[in-house]
Amino acid sequence: MNENEAEKYTGMLEMMGFVPAVDMENADFILFNTCCVRENAELKVFGHLGALKGLKREKPWLLIAVAGCMMQEPHMVEDIKKKHKHVDLVLGTQNIHELPQTIYERLTREKSIINVYDTERYIPEGMPLKREHPYKAWLSIMYGCNNFCSYCIVPHVRGRERSRELSDILDEARYLAEDGVKEITLLGQNVNSYGKTLEEKIDFSELLYALSKVDGIQRIRFMTSHPKDISNSLIMAMSELDKVCKHLHLPLQAGSDKVLKEMNRHYTKQRYLEIVDFARSKIPGLALTTDIMVGFPGETEQDFAETLDVAKRVEYDLAYTFIYSIRKGTPAAEREDQIPEEEKKSRFQRLLEVQDAASLKKNMEYIGKTEFVLNEGKSKTNSDINTGRTDTNKIVNFKSKEDTAGQIIKVRITDAGAWSLEGETV
Ligand code: SAH
Ligand code: SF4
Repeated sequence: MNENEAEKYTGMLEMMGFVPAVDMENADFILFNTCCVRENAELKVFGHLGALKGLKREKPWLLIAVAGCMMQEPHMVEDIKKKHKHVDLVLGTQNIHELPQTIYERLTREKSIINVYDTERYIPEGMPLKREHPYKAWLSIMYGCNNFCSYCIVPHVRGRERSRELSDILDEARYLAEDGVKEITLLGQNVNSYGKTLEEKIDFSELLYALSKVDGIQRIRFMTSHPKDISNSLIMAMSELDKVCKHLHLPLQAGSDKVLKEMNRHYTKQRYLEIVDFARSKIPGLALTTDIMVGFPGETEQDFAETLDVAKRVEYDLAYTFIYSIRKGTPAAEREDQIPEEEKKSRFQRLLEVQDAASLKKNMEYIGKTEFVLNEGKSKTNSDINTGRTDTNKIVNFKSKEDTAGQIIKVRITDAGAWSLEGETV
């Protein structure tokens, strides 16, 4: 979602006549698009801001902006005002579309401008956007979150869940298709509750059917799908619709029922495994990926063993693994039974070992198979090599004599590592 929002900032700046600078030192405008889901990302932003104090002294005309969900944390704007007076403008997550007018205000009023709403407003539509990839696009279908998982800051900084109108989503998909996009990834904190805030009754699987009819769009992906709300109709839509990719990102977070309850996730280990079995039985060749967190307050060695057990049983294609990070304002942050850093790190390492072995094993199964790959063009690091993804979202590096960038082509997989596959065009 952050990447999608960054594309919106870039789109607006481009329309205003800005061009990309070669590096920070040469820029006249610098915008930090922040994320507050974990503390590490926040610390980095402060590091960058501190480092820019000198540059701002040398170049007083330099404008520094900070945007993104970190700016929605109540204490953050005060911190910026007190400790980072060289920041020129601050934008909240509801104020993305106000970037141009905020720059204008800053230039005409000669003082720092803070533009942060703390309540949800209308959903702005039709914002210009500068895509990072020519052939694939992010498409946000909803904003905010109502789930209040006890560790998570997202509902506090992104407000209540609200869905975009079907017609707006279809318009954007058609526009993207005309612009050469072959693959869209639908974004939402919990796509399974898409449509709940709309007057016209529609659910997520119906949205997939509608989007499948858009000519030119050849692949549809989505994330994230919360296990508590996943429906049989979604699994059926995935199995029936050719354009919907055979990949399900289903965050586990933890394997212990006790921890899941305290996280406020509303499913059990058994229910989660049942969903996995059902999805695999209906969608042959399905790739499964997940998010897993270790070191939630009160997590015992036994609790952690349950997480490892799920990881071993499911054998995820890929897992995004995190060390629990205390987020001020969330219930889990108040708990006194926080897990010592050393223990968290050791569990994290043990989880990685299990997961890396599973990723490699899953990828090895592709060797010798022929896959449909959307050729995304030349690899950034080696211009002899093309890179693309399979339907199941595996990265494939391959040599191709013809220029087939932007096309879905057949590639025979010749080798595999834990992170990517290698192949040759057929
Ligand atoms: N809406 C998505 C998650 C968005 S946040 C969902 O429910 O799955 C992305 C991931 O960050 C989460 O799945 C979780 O694993 C991780 N995360 C969220 N809060 C965290 C915290 N306080 N510490 C560590 N990881 C966290
Ligand atoms: Fe955070 Fe839970 Fe909402 Fe995901 S569903 S954004 S983890 S509160």
